[in-house]
Amino acid sequence: MNRVALLGSTGSVGTQALDVARHLGDRVRIVALAGGRNTGLLSAQIAEFHPRLYHSLLPDRVTGLGARAATLEEIASDEDVDTVLVATSGTAGLEPTLAALRRGKTVALANKEVLVMAGGIVVEAAHRFGGRLVPVDSEHSAIFQCLRGEDGPIARLLLTASGGPFYRYTSERLTSVSVAEALAHPVWSMGQKITIDSATLMNKGLEVIEAHWLFGVPFDCIEVVVHPQCLIHSMVEFPDGSVKAQMSPPDMTLPIQYALTCPDRVPARTAPLSWTDSRSLTFEPVDVTRFPCLRLARQAGAAGGTYPAALCGADEAAVSLFLKGRIPFTGIARLVEYALNAHRAADGASLEAIRNAERQACSLVTAHSEEIVMEGAAQSRARL
Ligand code: MG
Repeated sequence: MNRVALLGSTGSVGTQALDVARHLGDRVRIVALAGGRNTGLLSAQIAEFHPRLYHSLLPDRVTGLGARAATLEEIASDEDVDTVLVATSGTAGLEPTLAALRRGKTVALANKEVLVMAGGIVVEAAHRFGGRLVPVDSEHSAIFQCLRGEDGPIARLLLTASGGPFYRYTSERLTSVSVAEALAHPVWSMGQKITIDSATLMNKGLEVIEAHWLFGVPFDCIEVVVHPQCLIHSMVEFPDGSVKAQMSPPDMTLPIQYALTCPDRVPARTAPLSWTDSRSLTFEPVDVTRFPCLRLARQAGAAGGTYPAALCGADEAAVSLFLKGRIPFTGIARLVEYALNAHRAADGASLEAIRNAERQACSLVTAHSEEIVMEGAAQSRARL
């Protein structure tokens, strides 16, 4: 029985994690639920799963029969919790992740910012206190699964990418992409921010940084391959040139389930792939000229320190401006590049320096968005 605290229970990964918990029955017990502002859904989840603890940004509106309100850190440190599934968005997941790792617990990590921004601090806490990080994202879960039973060196990690909805678009066409088009991901069903990040390929860039921290592989040994069928979720190449890949239907409940049951494998509610249908698997390189966010994320990751935090803050602000219709789709990369160029790295990367870098990049983008985007548009017109 895995006693699970689910942080971010009302979000996309959170609700799918509860589907997995229903499916797994006695193998999983939900001992704490944390949601943000969707108090109606959180109350319904509490009524169904009877957790002992809950957290909400609007606790007065939660009808938590028998459950006690607690902070995220209290939940993550609670004695009755074996696994903390961190599915919150943004940086709210950082402190609870550290609290759980410092108590030697397992953190099933679905949140990207935690590792992207504070990878060094998180990995160090896990080593020092014997906590365990288990990835939930499909790519990292795939690599995690490929590495089971392998103790030797890794030659390369090959992260697969669907390419997103605009992979065939020209640079020109990308400038006129609408919010509705960008929110319609061809394969995965996810929250709004990550769907836009998938369309710009920023999401893949953040995954490169996460993979670096999770598996201790240098940036120049992590490659991204476009694989539109989304059946291979990532691959690992070993020094002898042999490659292991993990395949399954593109359904988030599968990596969530593995994170909760590993090393055990138990039947899933999703039907396995059919191998009697004929199908092709294709692979192609990423065009970083049309999708500069991937290049920017790699650069920020390799620069290290507070650069990845500046990347996250700038992207958060830029995506929010795009969703409000204030900047074009291609403006996202332009704003992120501007914020990275303007960023001055702090000495050392303390949690405080990381949060400051994120906040500063976020305000910079929000304050200067129009002029930067206009300037960029004028430059591209001049080039044509
Ligand atoms: Mg992913």
